Amino acid sequence: MKVAVVGAGIVGAAVAHALLDDGHEVLILDREEPAFGPSRGNAGWIAHTDILPIASPKILRRVPKFLTDPLGPLAIRPAYLPRLLPWLTRFVLAARPAAYERSIRALAALQQRALPAWLARAERAGLRRHIHRRGGLYAFTDAATLAEAGRVAKRQAEFGIRVELIGPDELRQLEPALTGGFAGASFHPDAAHVGDPLDLTLALFSAALARGAVFEKAEVANISTAERPALIGPDGWQRVVDRAVIAAGAWSKPLAAALGDAVPLDTERGYNVSFRGFTGLTSRPVGFEGHGFVMTPLDTGLRIGGAVEFGGLKAAPNHARTRALYDKAATLVDGLPGFDSGRLWMGFRPSLPDSLPVIGTASRNPHVLYAFGHGHYGMTQSTATAELVADLIARREPAIDLAPFSPRRF
Ligand SMILES: Cc1cc2nc3c(=O)[nH]c(=O)nc-3n(C[C@H](O)[C@H](O)[C@H](O)COP(=O)(O)OP(=O)(O)OC[C@H]3O[C@@H](n4cnc5c(N)ncnc54)[C@H](O)[C@@H]3O)c2cc1C
Repeated sequence: MKVAVVGAGIVGAAVAHALLDDGHEVLILDREEPAFGPSRGNAGWIAHTDILPIASPKILRRVPKFLTDPLGPLAIRPAYLPRLLPWLTRFVLAARPAAYERSIRALAALQQRALPAWLARAERAGLRRHIHRRGGLYAFTDAATLAEAGRVAKRQAEFGIRVELIGPDELRQLEPALTGGFAGASFHPDAAHVGDPLDLTLALFSAALARGAVFEKAEVANISTAERPALIGPDGWQRVVDRAVIAAGAWSKPLAAALGDAVPLDTERGYNVSFRGFTGLTSRPVGFEGHGFVMTPLDTGLRIGGAVEFGGLKAAPNHARTRALYDKAATLVDGLPGFDSGRLWMGFRPSLPDSLPVIGTASRNPHVLYAFGHGHYGMTQSTATAELVADLIARREPAIDLAPFSPRRF
């Protein structure tokens, strides 16, 4: 079949490969160059060991404190609050205990497929050197968070995820640059990270082209409900295909709405600073629990970032936020390069309130499929999602239950 993929981010590139595996003819469309969105500058974690959704009873307790700090780990731009209210309502509903448990099971099912799917794809596409398996750390600066980590580790163990709780001395042995007052850490020996998200996304995209996929730089304004969907551009051009996949990240909402699915997709804006060529300070990714940022030793240099800011897709970045998280990092880590030598970036996480992506068919056209909304885990889940989308197109039984990922779950 002729299949169009809207979006040349990491999800679109991964979907293209899974479709090529099945012998389809693949057309990738993007209004920008490939890897324009968050696939370009994210933290690069293959965070398949994270199985707890963001919306949780715990986060609801913490939100008021976070919001009192305008440059803290979580912020809402006041002007954006009215538009965010429906999303926030869903977020609160998703944090109720029963909904939270359902999301954990669904998230774990997808996450369990993530690393194997990446390793298989990387092997086949000749990209193995982009994936590093040195584990990952979540470091804690207070004993209460460390106790909470014990409870989280227990939940993870239920899903076969290995987590070791370590004390401050062991942490210092693993990562001597972490000199702040740490109470301990949880070590995830099976966690992985990528050499550089931009390099990997472009390499995966180029490998798809080398296998016969075609790229067209074009904006898709609408997709028809015809049996053979027509992708329609803003100036009226059309491409008629047998199937279409919407993998347009945080920009997917209007395309889905036109196909009958009012999906509560919003964006969690994230910030980081990268120090190109600065390597060797740490050996593996480190998350700083309760502080809302992570540090990744990419092959291309050190990246420090995180934070969640709700402010929509149009507002300009506020890099005072990046500065604030760098300043916090400088109190916890020895030997950071000066802030001014770093490159600043802001990206749009495509986020659903229940931390689950949308994977399924469009309500008004079963020949249009969705693969968007991967939030904090798009790099991680892209190849696993791609396999599921290919299964749906081939009418194979998907490897996991896709009901929790349905566009109609809200
Ligand atoms: C600060 C930060 C850190 C992160 N860290 C991690 C991490 O460590 N691990 C992890 O797994 N994830 C991480 N993420 C999340 C991850 O980056 C995203 O989930 C992922 O990149 C989304 O990929 P995507 O392909 O769905 O979307 P995108 O990368 O946004 O790609 C979508 C593409 O669609 C195109 N497009 C949009 N609309 C149209 C249209 N109408 N017509 C044509 N083209 C269109 C866009 O131009 C874009 O190129 C992080 C995100 C941020 C912001």
